[in-house]
Amino acid sequence: MSKPVLVIGGGISGIQATIDLAKHGVEVYLVERNPSIGGKMAQLDKTFPTLDCASCILTPKMAEVLRYNNIKLLTYSEVQEVKGNVGDFTVKILRKPRYVDWDKCTGCGTCTERCPVKVPDEYNVKLGQRKAIYIEYPQAVPRKALIDYSHCLRLNPPPDLKEKAKGKPLCGACEKVCPTKAIDYNQQPEIIELNVAAIILATGLELYDASNIPEYGYGKYQNVYTNLEFERIVSSTGPTNGNIIRRSDGKPPKRIAWIQCVGSRDVRFNHYCSAFCCMAATKQAILAKELLPEVDTTIYYMDMRAFGKGFYEFYKRAMTEFGVKYVRGKVVKITERQDNKNLLLFYEDTIHSYMKKDEFDMVVLSVAVRPNRITAAPVKTDKGGFIQIMDPYMDTVTSTTEGIFVIGGAAEARDIPDSVTMASSAAIKASTIAKKCVVEQTIITSGERA
Ligand SMILES: Cc1cc2nc3c(=O)[nH]c(=O)nc-3n(C[C@H](O)[C@H](O)[C@H](O)COP(=O)(O)OP(=O)(O)OC[C@H]3O[C@@H](n4cnc5c(N)ncnc54)[C@H](O)[C@@H]3O)c2cc1C
Ligand code: SF4
Ligand code: SF4
Repeated sequence: MSKPVLVIGGGISGIQATIDLAKHGVEVYLVERNPSIGGKMAQLDKTFPTLDCASCILTPKMAEVLRYNNIKLLTYSEVQEVKGNVGDFTVKILRKPRYVDWDKCTGCGTCTERCPVKVPDEYNVKLGQRKAIYIEYPQAVPRKALIDYSHCLRLNPPPDLKEKAKGKPLCGACEKVCPTKAIDYNQQPEIIELNVAAIILATGLELYDASNIPEYGYGKYQNVYTNLEFERIVSSTGPTNGNIIRRSDGKPPKRIAWIQCVGSRDVRFNHYCSAFCCMAATKQAILAKELLPEVDTTIYYMDMRAFGKGFYEFYKRAMTEFGVKYVRGKVVKITERQDNKNLLLFYEDTIHSYMKKDEFDMVVLSVAVRPNRITAAPVKTDKGGFIQIMDPYMDTVTSTTEGIFVIGGAAEARDIPDSVTMASSAAIKASTIAKKCVVEQTIITSGERA
């Protein structure tokens, strides 16, 4: 058998690489820091340019990960240390305690119903709430419950309640109701050590913090949203059950504006283009039109980046079929009307070169993306913090360290088709190393015997 390969990050690119490696007959460890695999794609409603349902594409792939015996899935885990060289990397992985025995948990959800603690839900970008014991989202893989230590009354009681309890353990509701006796308040962190032939970094993207950009009022004006928040709002499984409503008054908006390049292509924040937001905004404006046919939608952009297959046609369709308006303009400031919480946009019309003002009742910011960081991997990063690739023309998936590959958003802002293509390419390269390792080992062993 060949030596295993390690994939770090369980978004669409890590999932695709893992499945491809498994199909090549290689043993593969997939490490994901969150409780479930899925990454950003799991938070999307539909995908451009086809408007396919994102979870209809992603969920079967997530389930496929569980079907192969040669895939070992380690979620809620983080890589702490990577040592060695191509063909012989030693990796230390921290498996964080879930306080639930996942061999016993059936994902029935009885515990989450009974838990009295509600906290903001990360999956819904904090627009909704979850319990202290929770399943990350309905299609989670693995679909298992875990306890959030910091909010659990039993594991981490607030000082006042602890004092009142006089040494008696608090709550314990989940333990009482769990039909399979899966709750384990004493679970400890585990360190797993692996020896792998190659590593694929698929740690993906995070949104830049829009509240760092003072002129747009994110976090200050209630009806200013990020594009990821908007994905959750239009999703039928999201916090508003797919109803587009304003934070301020729960009413549907009549006019929505999207602002492009928020924190990207801006030397103050991130110099690079976030690549997919022009098409993501176009998709979101179409979705808004589908859900609220009377809504007026305007996208303020610097240049329209519609470079992928079918993207330009998608952009044209948004204008002609759905009536989405595009204004080439740079929004310089947003202010809020006190009486109705509407938003006033001040922008430079960059075609006619003069300043204009318009009023909207909801604004969506197409926020820059940044790479998630994995400090443990011995690789070089570029100016934007993305993992550097060896050769931007001839080898777009090999990092500067032999045997370590990089795919999807970890390499650069990438859309789903690009991420998947990179994943399949890296899987072939990594499997070649994995299989070669065994051949070399066999030769050495037989040489020693002789
Ligand atoms: C608002 C919005 C709308 C979008 N719409 C579209 C669209 O319609 N069509 C399209 O093609 N693309 C779209 N995209 C882009 C798409 O989300 C990305 O192309 C895709 O998610 C990239 O996949 P990935 O696997 O590389 O990264 P991610 O999806 O970011 O996954 C990375 C995974 O790695 C995990 N991870 C991170 N760090 C670590 C670590 N240290 N250890 C272990 N695990 C780690 C993360 O938890 C995550 O699960 C959109 C993006 C946004 C933000
Ligand atoms: S009640 Fe028990 S089996 Fe059901 S989801 Fe909760 S921990 Fe899992
Ligand atoms: S012990 Fe109580 S607070 Fe903690 S997860 Fe269980 S039900 Fe929730």
